[in-house]
Amino acid sequence: MSRQGRKMRKLPRSLRFYVAASTFYAAMVFLAVQYIYTVQLAESGLIVARHDTGDLLASIQLVSFVVWLGISLIAAAIMHRLATALAGARSAEEQKEQELGSIFGLSAALAGPLELEEIGQHFLAAVRNALDPSVTAVLIAYDDVLEAFRTVGAEGPQANRLRGQTYSTAGLATAIRTRVIDHRRPFLVPDTAADAETWTKLAQEMPQVAGARSFAALPLVSRDRLVGALLVISDRAGALVADRVQMPMIMGQYVAGSIHSALSVSDAESRAEREALVNRVAQQARASLDPDEILRGTVDALGRVLGVSRAIVSSGVSEDDLNVSYEWDAPGVEPVGRGARSIPVAQFAARLGRTVVVNDIRQDRRFAEGTKDDLKQRGVVAVAATPIRVGGQLKGALALSQIDRPREWSANDVRLIEAVAHELRVAMTSAEAFEQQRRAVAELERLNRAKSDFVSIVSHEFRTPLTGIQGFSEMMSSEDLTLDEMKEYAGDINKDAQRLNRMINEMLDLDKMESGRMQLHEEAVDLNAIATESADRIRPNAPAHPVTLRLDPALGTIMGDRDKLTQVLANLLNNAVKYSPKGGEIVVSTRVEGAAAHLVVRDHGMGIPKEALDSIFERYGRVESRATRNIRGTGLGLPIVRQIVQLHGGVVWAESTVGEGSVFHVTLPLAARSSAVAEAAS
Ligand code: ADP
Repeated sequence: MSRQGRKMRKLPRSLRFYVAASTFYAAMVFLAVQYIYTVQLAESGLIVARHDTGDLLASIQLVSFVVWLGISLIAAAIMHRLATALAGARSAEEQKEQELGSIFGLSAALAGPLELEEIGQHFLAAVRNALDPSVTAVLIAYDDVLEAFRTVGAEGPQANRLRGQTYSTAGLATAIRTRVIDHRRPFLVPDTAADAETWTKLAQEMPQVAGARSFAALPLVSRDRLVGALLVISDRAGALVADRVQMPMIMGQYVAGSIHSALSVSDAESRAEREALVNRVAQQARASLDPDEILRGTVDALGRVLGVSRAIVSSGVSEDDLNVSYEWDAPGVEPVGRGARSIPVAQFAARLGRTVVVNDIRQDRRFAEGTKDDLKQRGVVAVAATPIRVGGQLKGALALSQIDRPREWSANDVRLIEAVAHELRVAMTSAEAFEQQRRAVAELERLNRAKSDFVSIVSHEFRTPLTGIQGFSEMMSSEDLTLDEMKEYAGDINKDAQRLNRMINEMLDLDKMESGRMQLHEEAVDLNAIATESADRIRPNAPAHPVTLRLDPALGTIMGDRDKLTQVLANLLNNAVKYSPKGGEIVVSTRVEGAAAHLVVRDHGMGIPKEALDSIFERYGRVESRATRNIRGTGLGLPIVRQIVQLHGGVVWAESTVGEGSVFHVTLPLAARSSAVAEAAS
């Protein structure tokens, strides 16, 4: 095609038409003039000078042709301009009409009470109507509790890709955050290629919109509150320019109010629903004081209502201490197991002291890869957790998890979880108080029982020597006795009286020690010497019990009350004999252990059941069994031992195997000098 042809092609069709028409018109005029000059003039007898006829006529004809052509072309251009202006006016009017129609349509659509999603649909349809067909419009609304923008709807060619997204405020691109969210002003990039620097950064921060060639983000503000934003993207550069986004901006002003109302209505509705559920749950919880039953009533109900896979209550006073104490699992979901400690989201919530929601752990940058792997292995994808605190102190956490698929936790879900955690807190506190009270009552009952046991024991114990005293004294007064017999009976009476005296002293001593009124007469005491003396004293009364001493000569001295420490050894040795009715070796050993002296009394008697190893050190704590039934005792010997040892800054405990024998351990701090000597010796 020739160059001229190409140029012609570039001319608008209407102009070409006018040029052709004017050329044709000029030609017609030319022919008319030709006719007038040549035919009409000749016919009327007017003849131009012969020698110049041809040239003159030709030039007149040429000039008139050119003039006419010029006039016709100018007329063509004017006509074309006029036609274009008319057409433009018509299309601007049409567009205005269409836009106005959209606004009216939108306001009509928004007139009735609507759900947020419906508002979104109308708004996005109107926005798309007002813009180029290549645009995709996305409505995001701000969710207070999630502290994020939730996609309410998306319309347009790219809609599928953009639906269902949530943008945390930090997840929005900085440019959008500062301009649209903070300053509430529109943000527009008509051609992303032309503004490469801004766009590259934005695309990195928000990969969801990275492919756009033209982009706009418009704030939706109602009554001073930013309720959301409209994001518009197009794959056609220049599709979104300042003029074009005016209309969506105006529409946005209408819609923001409706979104605001819809949010408030749905807020109120869901609050009512939530309150109903929480009331139900609370009623169930309050109907019981058994912590397990409370958890069953509340946590199971919550798990079912939210449709999660698993609900876990963990307990612990610190983040690392948290472990699963109650668990509800949907059918087919494998339990984590009581006591499990791998609950990272609950721990995270405990550390932050507030609710944490994770929509998809695989994409959550707050958790380390190891943690993610751990949760992935269990199939956990989404988790919401909230701490349970009582009086500022962590008590546990409530966590809900979704297996195998992400979950977008709504503001409602979060509020419900928090409300239930609050109920749990109340229920747990009252259950705890009840449990404490129950334990106190049980303890009082135990003490009461022990006291009446004691009364019967003591009356029995007191009666034996008293019966003796009574019998012997009666005999002495009523019978004729020889002096020797008198002496013998008097000796028996004295023994019984001493026994009574000892028992009363024991009781008084224990009372004194327990109430802190006992004074120690401290001096440097040789524990080995006390052990030897005590063994010597017991031997004559225990012929069936060989007493062996294995004493560490390097033991050194301890600062203590000689009499009291003698009593410790006497009580332990007496018990060793008393509770080995068949006899058996008794071994007393001492050794140095760091800065302490370690004394051990071992017997080969009946032994003590495991569950009684602590209670035998309590007042009147006796092992009730067939074997001990006929062995006299007051249940005061070991409590006295413990009190004396504790007053000396030491510790006492017992180990035993029933049927094989018992071992009593006592550690007492060594006097400073001798421990240094012992250390040097060792
Ligand atoms: P009691 O006067 O009853 O001996 P203790 O306080 O000395 O009081 O001991 C408490 C209980 O501990 C005893 O009743 C007995 O059941 C158990 N006990 C103490 N020493 C021994 C021991 N060496 N072997 C087995 N049981 C023991």
